[in-house]
Amino acid sequence: SWAQAVDEQEAAAESVNVNLRCYGLLSAQSLLNKLIRSNLVNTTNQVEVLQRIQTLRFNSVKSFEELRLKPQLLQGVYGMGFNRPSKIQETALPMMLAEPPQNLIAQSQSGTGKTAAFVLAMLSHVDPNNKYPQCLCVSPTYELALQTGKVIEQMGKHYPEVKLVYAIRGNKSGMKLQEQIVIGTPGTMLDWCTKFKFIDPKKIKVFVLDEADVMIATQGHQDQSIRIQRMLPKNCQMLLFSATFEESVWNFAQRIVPDPNIIKLKREEETLDTIKQYYVLCNCKEEKFQALCNIYGAITIAQAMIFCHTRKTAGWLAGELSREGHQVALLSGEMQVEQRAAVIERFRDGKEKVLVTTNVCARGIDVEQVSVVINFDLPVDKDGNPDNETYLHRIGRTGRFGKRGLAINMVDSKMSMNILNRIQEHFNKKIEKLNTDDLDEIE
Ligand code: ADP
Repeated sequence: SWAQAVDEQEAAAESVNVNLRCYGLLSAQSLLNKLIRSNLVNTTNQVEVLQRIQTLRFNSVKSFEELRLKPQLLQGVYGMGFNRPSKIQETALPMMLAEPPQNLIAQSQSGTGKTAAFVLAMLSHVDPNNKYPQCLCVSPTYELALQTGKVIEQMGKHYPEVKLVYAIRGNKSGMKLQEQIVIGTPGTMLDWCTKFKFIDPKKIKVFVLDEADVMIATQGHQDQSIRIQRMLPKNCQMLLFSATFEESVWNFAQRIVPDPNIIKLKREEETLDTIKQYYVLCNCKEEKFQALCNIYGAITIAQAMIFCHTRKTAGWLAGELSREGHQVALLSGEMQVEQRAAVIERFRDGKEKVLVTTNVCARGIDVEQVSVVINFDLPVDKDGNPDNETYLHRIGRTGRFGKRGLAINMVDSKMSMNILNRIQEHFNKKIEKLNTDDLDEIE
């Protein structure tokens, strides 16, 4: 019926919307992570490996020398300040560099060394004497592709014969490519292989699909990637990487990578064990601000992150704090990813001592040196229930790398007291009351 058709149309429109939102958020977060990541993420977890052929054993390596890399590449690796392979690289690199080439699906959280690993594999496999594309690398967005391109340039610094080109719209006009490595988004890459024929897919030796979880959140990327993969020769090495691994990612991965070796590295669990948690009772936001000032007057805080529920509160608080003479950084939702990265970087470098932010903005960022976290507003979900996951992520520390920390929660109503109690129950960890007129007890 007509009414049903309208319903279906609206439902379809809504699902496209959800996809768009999802796409924007995921790829932006991923880019932000890359822009601010200057170090490996530590992990104590063990790598899980599922090898394709039981008789073919790949030993993990503890040094880059054991990999017998080209000297130019070893120089590039050391030039980047890498002393030894990361957890995931120890296992993944011997597989990726083996002869014959091994296919691989690898999953580990962002910052664990996946990009560096597949860049090294691509650079190792190209023949610089052949002036045509031999490696294709697809990323979900152009900005993400650029970040990977930068790693290729850094690691290949002493190997200038190997050239790189970005598959972006309007970049090329009617010429076969001479560059050995092509990196870009699936749509353009597909066009370059089919419509424009800048790339001969039959000559590709390595195909990399990065950020598979972000990739599948975009309509069309999945099909385009599969269409590219179908054109590649049988002996082409297929590599797929993802930070997370739900069912949908796994299904996609298996369509892209035949006969895969599989490597997984579990995320480090966050805990509240080394955190002292307090709450402060107030009546309104002005009182909360006063309490905050008292805390600052009483204890030495090297750097603090303060979380607010809305942009408006965050903006107001940042203003009040600067008026008090604090050097404040404000991270806000309307900022571009690059601007956000710049704010976080300045804060990391200690240029500002306080970072005021909303929850959405702060998702996925870690600032390791921060020892004090203040929940100016408690984290709640859209239904007003306690958001325990966000609470843990804001103040928790991972494994034994975690330093001791201090968390202070501002309570300003019966409702927020209720939220606090539920958070306390959920984690089964006492949150102590703090009297901000008498602050001897903390520190
Ligand atoms: P992922 O792709 O998993 O997000 P990256 O490859 O981007 O991880 O690595 C994260 C950070 O760690 C980058 O700053 C990178 O330069 C650095 N890094 C990667 N491998 C090593 C290593 N073996 N030793 C030291 N630092 C490394």
